[in-house]
Amino acid sequence: MDFEYQYSPEQEKFRQEVRTWLDQNVPQGTASSVDPEEMTAELFAFAREMRRKLGRKGWLNPTFPKAYGGGGLTSEHEVILDEELERRRVPILFSNPFLSAALLVWGTEEQRQKFLTGLLTGEIIAYQAFTEPQSGSDLANIKCTAVHDGDDWIINGVKCFVTGPGPDRADILFGPIMTDPTSPRHRNLGYFIIPGKAAGVKLVPMRLLNGNQQHFVYFDNVRVSAEYLIGGERQGWQVTMTSLEEEHGGRGRPMSPNAASDLITYVRRSKHNGGALGQDPFTQQQVVDSYIESHIAGLLAVRNYSMFAQRQEMSYHGSQTAIVGRETGIRNNTRARDIVGLYGQLGTHEPGAPFGGWLEVRYGRSLPPHAGGTLEVQKTIVARRIGISRTQERAAPTPATATKFTA
Ligand SMILES: Cc1cc2nc3c(=O)[nH]c(=O)nc-3n(C[C@H](O)[C@H](O)[C@H](O)COP(=O)(O)OP(=O)(O)OC[C@H]3O[C@@H](n4cnc5c(N)ncnc54)[C@H](O)[C@@H]3O)c2cc1C
Repeated sequence: MDFEYQYSPEQEKFRQEVRTWLDQNVPQGTASSVDPEEMTAELFAFAREMRRKLGRKGWLNPTFPKAYGGGGLTSEHEVILDEELERRRVPILFSNPFLSAALLVWGTEEQRQKFLTGLLTGEIIAYQAFTEPQSGSDLANIKCTAVHDGDDWIINGVKCFVTGPGPDRADILFGPIMTDPTSPRHRNLGYFIIPGKAAGVKLVPMRLLNGNQQHFVYFDNVRVSAEYLIGGERQGWQVTMTSLEEEHGGRGRPMSPNAASDLITYVRRSKHNGGALGQDPFTQQQVVDSYIESHIAGLLAVRNYSMFAQRQEMSYHGSQTAIVGRETGIRNNTRARDIVGLYGQLGTHEPGAPFGGWLEVRYGRSLPPHAGGTLEVQKTIVARRIGISRTQERAAPTPATATKFTA
């Protein structure tokens, strides 16, 4: 690769510290399961605890402010941590990360202390509840309602596609809810945090092509107090945009391992017509395309990470990266299946499945590429931001551009 990080002696010392800590805290042979839904109860408990342990050290959110449970570290530290956690495939339980940005930009000091600290230290597991049956791409078309009852709000309605590790694991849900049906679109929503165990909240798994980690969420007269509303009672759309700016790729990724590396290993090792499979001309073309495109997608994510860390104003960059990353994922999964053939359809439990069934899991999960907004929506955003659309828009405020916090 032409572009690589160079590390100072101090940073290499930090890497050593991370490795030593991981040696002490991650037993040999403990690694993320190929299919996240096939975690044993033991692995699940380990991944839950690992989230807390990393959080306590400030390594779960290394560049966030120490005052709220972040690590107060530099982006170089974050790159090293990401590299080492990825290298060991350390199991860490999923929690949706996009509420943190909303809290930093829009939350009061009390709300940051109450919610952000728990999120950054790994104590709170959060699920994002934006989508509703009629409001996916047309996200502003929210029908869930929040009605005043004294100082409290009473919430009713249904959300869908809400992702998380099971129906009973959500500590909090968050998302836009209609607060004022008489106000125009984009000025009629509030952005709420809702405790996952509150009376009247029910999560039911959806059964989808890409797995069972998406849920319907039913709100039946759920009562929350005023401190659970982030931003003003008609500012929910703006707060939602701050979360989406990150979800669309605006925060980037500190590092990006080449997604084609497993395929390269496979074609090196597999035999075909008396030689290595990689020597077959068709295979070579496919693998090289995968290799190049994986690099492009990875470098765009790293570019965004660098822009975010330097607090640069961003525009089309996040959605551009999302489009390239997802389209690359679909093409590369298809190429890998063309090369591996019917064996690529073997699942994680089938003996002899290439990559331990990884290909089948990845293929299912890359389709449909809707999570966080469809490709068409991402392209509409890019069009607006490069000035070729009927309407034009700027990026929403993010912790990089809108806040003055220092780590
Ligand atoms: C794996 C997965 C995880 C998800 N996780 C979450 C989550 O954690 N929380 C959450 O809130 N949501 C989540 N979602 C929901 C996701 O955000 C929506 O699926 C997405 O926004 C699309 O909405 P929709 O499914 O209703 O499709 P629709 O909006 O009905 O779109 C259907 C098709 O029509 C196209 N289309 C719609 N409008 C236009 C237009 N104006 N121009 C061109 N084409 C258009 C779309 O691109 C798409 O191809 C997840 C979805 C998936 C698949």
